[in-house]
Amino acid sequence: MLRVPVRFVGKVYRPPSEADALLLQASIGCSHNRCTYCDMYRDKPVFRPRPVEECLEDLRTAGAQYGSRVQKLFVTDGDALVLPVEAWERILGEARRQFPALRRVSCYAMARNVLDHGPEALAALRAAGLTRLYIGPESGDDVTLRRIAKGSNAATHVEAARLAHEAGMELSVIFLLGAGGVERSAEHAIASAALATAMNPAYLSALTLTVVPGTPLHRLEQRGSFVLPDVPALLGELRTFVALASPDNAVFRTNHASNYLPIAGNLPTDRDRILRVLDGALGGSVALRPEWSRGL
Ligand code: SF4
Repeated sequence: MLRVPVRFVGKVYRPPSEADALLLQASIGCSHNRCTYCDMYRDKPVFRPRPVEECLEDLRTAGAQYGSRVQKLFVTDGDALVLPVEAWERILGEARRQFPALRRVSCYAMARNVLDHGPEALAALRAAGLTRLYIGPESGDDVTLRRIAKGSNAATHVEAARLAHEAGMELSVIFLLGAGGVERSAEHAIASAALATAMNPAYLSALTLTVVPGTPLHRLEQRGSFVLPDVPALLGELRTFVALASPDNAVFRTNHASNYLPIAGNLPTDRDRILRVLDGALGGSVALRPEWSRGL
């Protein structure tokens, strides 16, 4: 991982596929910061954009140090797409100047950020070099989405995907096994597959929910209002998802450290092979990642 020296506030997160990207912290925290399961930015309760001049300085520092070694730039924190277009354009312009081999710039986004920008701004961002958005609806089930306080329903995510595609951006879409709890497990899996199909991303992944102490979800769990499905049920959700999700052609990964079973393939092309692996895991003939080696 390439890191701009010094300038990070708190913990910084990026998707597994951005492990070799340069990280630039252009915003601090998450403008939403209310998802009940999320612990990522609770150490930064007040969201704020970084001053653009500081971001540009960081890019110049990184340019002097890494220059043409940088091919990917990942802009943090939790929903960096919320930054104004003008800030993005200055950051993207400086990134192009500093990194002549740059071929991808990406960030996390919420569906609402996409809709708030609208078609013209998204087209301008794409033209300036923002090429990929990572969006985590986590579930396609509106009841689950409301309970986890995601802030948007399934239809909003479909519209966000449509706008992003129209602007020429790639989408990487993330779902969260277990998000519906035991109570909504089946609905969550089925509706998530439907939403994955409707959003039709180029990249699709599933993570597994871990209930983190200190989160609202943990308090619900302690009160007995939320029960995380057990491992076979989580694998069952994944099986349902894989069996039903039908994007045109998506790279599908469960390589995040939170998962019990790392899988790689394309959907729908590799559906049957992935289902055989999942059936092996459910039947006990395919080993799972041990609990101690899982991560958030
Ligand atoms: S939008 Fe993402 S970063 Fe923000 S609270 Fe929800 S899960 Fe966490």
